Amino acid sequence: MTTTPALVINQANAPMVKSQIERRPVGKKDVRLSIAYSGICHSDVHQARSEWGSDIFPMVPGHEIIGHVVEVGSEVTKFKLGDTVGVGVFVDSCRECDACKANLESYCERGPVGSYNGYGYDGEVQYGGYSKEIVTDEHFVLKISEGVNLAECAPLLCAGITVYSPLRHWQAGPGKKVAILGMGGLGHLAVKFAVAMGAEVTVLGHSLSKKADALAFGATDYRSTSDEQTFKDLATKFDFILNTTSANIPVDSLLGMIKLDGALVFVGLPAESQSFNVFGLTGQRRSISGSQVGGQVEVQEMLDFAAANNIGASIEMLDATDPATIDAAWNRVVDADVRYRFVIDASTI
Ligand SMILES: [Zn+2]
Ligand SMILES: [Zn+2]
Repeated sequence: MTTTPALVINQANAPMVKSQIERRPVGKKDVRLSIAYSGICHSDVHQARSEWGSDIFPMVPGHEIIGHVVEVGSEVTKFKLGDTVGVGVFVDSCRECDACKANLESYCERGPVGSYNGYGYDGEVQYGGYSKEIVTDEHFVLKISEGVNLAECAPLLCAGITVYSPLRHWQAGPGKKVAILGMGGLGHLAVKFAVAMGAEVTVLGHSLSKKADALAFGATDYRSTSDEQTFKDLATKFDFILNTTSANIPVDSLLGMIKLDGALVFVGLPAESQSFNVFGLTGQRRSISGSQVGGQVEVQEMLDFAAANNIGASIEMLDATDPATIDAAWNRVVDADVRYRFVIDASTI
């Protein structure tokens, strides 16, 4: 065992404190990394405040991790000392089920092991990226290309793959019209990725306050969902709509904007059940679907695509010298008062 400094939440809603946590010894297939940056995901807040239930305290959140390799196990083949690497939402899966064999570890039938607030298959509690070091099986470690802005890269490990995977699955590209519903942490990356893939991108926002940013990211149109005229103007326009919000949405009105064989895809997680009128599906053979991050091969593909296309998150950097700074940032995440993602400078932990 080694100990490493971390930001720890000792019980639901407790303030973050600095403490030491233990990391397992580096096994044959393990990589130990010194963490440089750790992104803040809204799911960190939900879990540390026990809004999703079954939470494990003390908790060290964080699943958007960028760092450098400082130790490798004897059977590690993909990495060497000094490599720049990332760790995302999952740190293990069964490797045997149909999903794992198809490189879809995030849908592992046994249940993938989360980077924090979960138990490993050995029963050990997992602690996440709000710390200075982490030990992870090399299968769940990603290569980061040279020249990438590492702080802006961190949020790609969760937010980036969460939007990249459905954009690929529903084939965003030249000739496709894509709408991104909501432009927060997830949505702003969805716009950047969909534009880079060659799609024509419209942002659907609650208000028009982020219109200038959306157009700067490459969107060609920005409409307010508060204006009923939007739904009339854009009827049957889109190949698919990616819903990045976790709010209740007007599903039937949105379905009306989707063309034949198109889809409404959820990646945001509303707390309440959503309902729809089936006629909204049958009339144009539309689908409603959902998607959850992506497998390791696709996460690597996303990181390489982002590097090649100069895509990073738009971020605010945080200094964790006073942990209350991070609690305050979390409140701003809840208030959707960040453009567009917070990243912790792990050297200050
Ligand atoms: Zn996340
Ligand atoms: Zn599996």
